[in-house]
Amino acid sequence: MEYHVEPARKVPVTRKVDVIVVGGGPAGLAAAISAARTGAKTVLIEQFGYLGGTATASLMACINGFRNQRPIDPERGAAQVVRGIAQEIVLKLKAMGGLGKSPYSQKEYPTEPGQLEYSYAIDTEKFKFVTLKMCVDAGVEVLLHTWFCDAIVEDNVVRGVLVENKSGRQAMLAGVVIDASGDADVAARAGAPFWQTKHDEQKRLNDQLMYRIEFGSGRPKGGFACDFGSNAVVWGPATGPINAADGDELSKAEVGARLKVYEDFAAKQKEHPELADARVVETPPLLGIRQTRFVEGEYKLTAEDAIQGARFDDVIAISPCAIIHFYGYRRYLEHDGYDIPYRCLVPKKIDGLLIAGRCISSQQQSYESHRAMVNMIAIGEAAGAAAAMCAEAKVAPRKLDVARLQQRLIEQGVELRRGGSAS
Ligand SMILES: Cc1cc2nc3c(=O)[nH]c(=O)nc-3n(C[C@H](O)[C@H](O)[C@H](O)COP(=O)(O)OP(=O)(O)OC[C@H]3O[C@@H](n4cnc5c(N)ncnc54)[C@H](O)[C@@H]3O)c2cc1C
Repeated sequence: MEYHVEPARKVPVTRKVDVIVVGGGPAGLAAAISAARTGAKTVLIEQFGYLGGTATASLMACINGFRNQRPIDPERGAAQVVRGIAQEIVLKLKAMGGLGKSPYSQKEYPTEPGQLEYSYAIDTEKFKFVTLKMCVDAGVEVLLHTWFCDAIVEDNVVRGVLVENKSGRQAMLAGVVIDASGDADVAARAGAPFWQTKHDEQKRLNDQLMYRIEFGSGRPKGGFACDFGSNAVVWGPATGPINAADGDELSKAEVGARLKVYEDFAAKQKEHPELADARVVETPPLLGIRQTRFVEGEYKLTAEDAIQGARFDDVIAISPCAIIHFYGYRRYLEHDGYDIPYRCLVPKKIDGLLIAGRCISSQQQSYESHRAMVNMIAIGEAAGAAAAMCAEAKVAPRKLDVARLQQRLIEQGVELRRGGSAS
């Protein structure tokens, strides 16, 4: 390959803060809120003009994972194992009339604290508003339209990030950086070890373009996809597995999926004649990317952990969700949820960095469970509090006193099943 050598240049340092969060998806926005509420001066960097990541920029309008979808006990159902910021978001959406009908079959609950359903369809515009307001109210500096380009690393410690936006290239320094980019962009640039599921692997989730339709004079019986009454968000063209951390491949897949939207919709109209005069009204800016890089952490969650309901001393969140694809059927868990340990957020080799979101250290099977957005928010909430505590105490994330972190999370209203409060 031919190369161009960029001349060295001085880059202005525009921020020096406690915590930088890269990526404003479900994990990143929760991390930023949690870090700021824990007292850290926090900057949240996001490429789009709003928060929500896959929920908004890829129109994935269905947020799952407060409890096991399948009742464990016919009397009590399954325990609600996620509260904290995820619960707060859903209750705020409810107050604004921002919840639709989820397509998943599930036991009904009244949607009150401790009484949430497995899944909710979310009004994506209200989700953008609620999450942005929560960040601003917590004191987060939200920096939109800004692209993370590179990590600033000294002696295997991340000291900050390089970003680009309309103002040009800038350096930003922080006590701790949280990689919530979904694709582990920061970890990869910083030299943390990671693995990647590429297109040639069979057992991985594919990527898919969601889109919104407006109903005409008829509508399919019962709930249809993520149902908002006059309109619904549907699962559209799937790409087949691609490597979305490769710029060329991502663009090619995006082009391919977009060119199939009307064909896909015509097939849905054929299957549901009630959609004859419905129409496509919105495609999101970004193809839905389910998985790319995974960072090697101090612990890698396993299929057995998820299936057997593992409990860990360093639990920071709980996942009750089914393993959706790996076994060729939806494998529901036979328990209320398994623990996600703090060590899955701590990358090997590199300090000054925490991982939040879909790229944490986890095998394919367990990932397919805790990838649900409610669990992503819970993981982000833990990463944010941890980063704030590390920055304040000037302690490397791998040296953090996890018992103190757990105490802090419980004070924030997080469910860790310490003292048996899940019900
Ligand atoms: C098609 C599809 C269907 C799904 N179905 C469901 C479902 O029914 N229910 C459910 O709960 N979950 C579902 N999921 C899973 C869920 O949406 C994801 O696992 C979750 O959104 C991951 O959250 P995250 O914050 O880790 O990453 P993301 O949502 O990917 O957010 C990452 C954020 O980082 C930003 N970013 C990335 N790189 C950069 C950069 N270099 N500079 C600046 N910003 C950057 C992005 O813009 C984005 O905002 C689905 C996902 C897909 C793709």
